[in-house]
Amino acid sequence: MNYLSTRGHPDRKRFCEILLEGLAPDGGLYLPETYPQVDTDTLAKWRTLPYNELAFEILSLYIDDIPAADLKAICAKTYTAEVFGSDEIVPLRELEDGVYLEALSNGPTLAFKDMAMQLLGNLFEYELARRGAELNILGATSGDTGSAAEYAMRGKKGVRVFMTSPDGRMSPFQQAQMFSLQDENIHNIAITGVFDDCQDIVKAVSNDLGFKRKYRIGTVNSINWARLLAQVVYYFAGYFQATASNDKPVSFTVPSGNFGNVCAGHVARMMGLPIQTLVVATNENDVLDEFFRTGVYRVRAAVDTHETSSPSMDISKASNFERFVFDLVGRDAARLRQLFVDDLGLRGSFDLSADPVFQQAAERFGFRSGRSTHADRLAMIRDTEKRFATLIDPHTADGLKAAREQLTPGVPMVVLETALPIKFAATVVEALGEEPARPKKFEGIEALPKRVVQLPADAEAVKAYIAEHCD
Ligand SMILES: *Cc1c(COP(=O)(O)O)cnc(C)c1O
Repeated sequence: MNYLSTRGHPDRKRFCEILLEGLAPDGGLYLPETYPQVDTDTLAKWRTLPYNELAFEILSLYIDDIPAADLKAICAKTYTAEVFGSDEIVPLRELEDGVYLEALSNGPTLAFKDMAMQLLGNLFEYELARRGAELNILGATSGDTGSAAEYAMRGKKGVRVFMTSPDGRMSPFQQAQMFSLQDENIHNIAITGVFDDCQDIVKAVSNDLGFKRKYRIGTVNSINWARLLAQVVYYFAGYFQATASNDKPVSFTVPSGNFGNVCAGHVARMMGLPIQTLVVATNENDVLDEFFRTGVYRVRAAVDTHETSSPSMDISKASNFERFVFDLVGRDAARLRQLFVDDLGLRGSFDLSADPVFQQAAERFGFRSGRSTHADRLAMIRDTEKRFATLIDPHTADGLKAAREQLTPGVPMVVLETALPIKFAATVVEALGEEPARPKKFEGIEALPKRVVQLPADAEAVKAYIAEHCD
């Protein structure tokens, strides 16, 4: 399997070449040249596989530069009941007739990012050892991504993590999750500033090509193809749990920010998994809902990006969206560049409303969307607790609200649970007046010793810190 860039660069790459990379050299995103097709016989064989073996089968279709036995071992080591809390790894539970929650948040940091990041940690360690190389991961986080990356990379050989976060702005639980890690290779850097300052620092350091090369700086952000690929697996696992046979369609609703999670659903659907509808659920930051309703994709300015109670979906643009639009315009790289380079670069928006391809987003690719507000979120958390004795987090609540608006009789609707309520306790308390239950392993973590340094919002200070801690 070879990978191409959405922006038309002539090079083709193999999986392990793009594993440690971010954007393609022309600024595009990597995608497989074709989507492997899965027929009903294959689905029948996969239906009864344990999660780690299902992961191996799907990954094998996209990875041909890691020996099968090694890839199998990596999947077996990653997806264990010990790490993810159950043999099913992503258990499905029925809320009411035809509406299900797929639990993706029982990994080490209690958010769905563990599903991909845990695999990435093992793939990185494997590939770096094979190359005799090292990697220093530099990131910016306001919560879920940073902790998932740290728990995936802790103790891994050849990898260091330098994770910046806005000082004092994460929830006490999220801070404790990250700062209590005592591993030598994990560096928490609290920046005096806001999340945008952290992102600017990461950009500035990455743009210093000399520094980047010398200190082997890499990232683990959501545009990484390996992360997206790992997420494809749980659409198959969810499908098998929601159906008794492989001729039944299923719909999924996905709480969305950077479009990474739902893009994995798009890939599963392109492979032939019988997905009827993919519902993109957004919060007040409704860039994606606006596109799927109107055909206009309009990137928001920083002042128009809201801080909401489902903060992991607070985005001004959706960094994986380009992957879907590439398929939508028939993989026409010139057209794609016109939209994402010319139109977005010049005007900050593009408009497909008058283009016949826009109809295909719904008709051919199955996309729908929905949007919710803080009040919707609270109402959904209350309603779900009251009627089904089930506690959900604010992101999952956004999903459930959008799902309810898109139900089709006879087609199971699977809502992806993207975090556990304890991670976003303040909003759950606002809705219900009570603290969500906390898994045993997190009891008292706020009181543990913290490993974190404070630095000013200055790229040079961060560079100096990295240089000092690299040998
Ligand atoms: C990251 C995240 C999302 C958004 O996922 P995308 O892949 O960026 O669309 C939704 N919910 C939670 C809890 C998250 O951590």
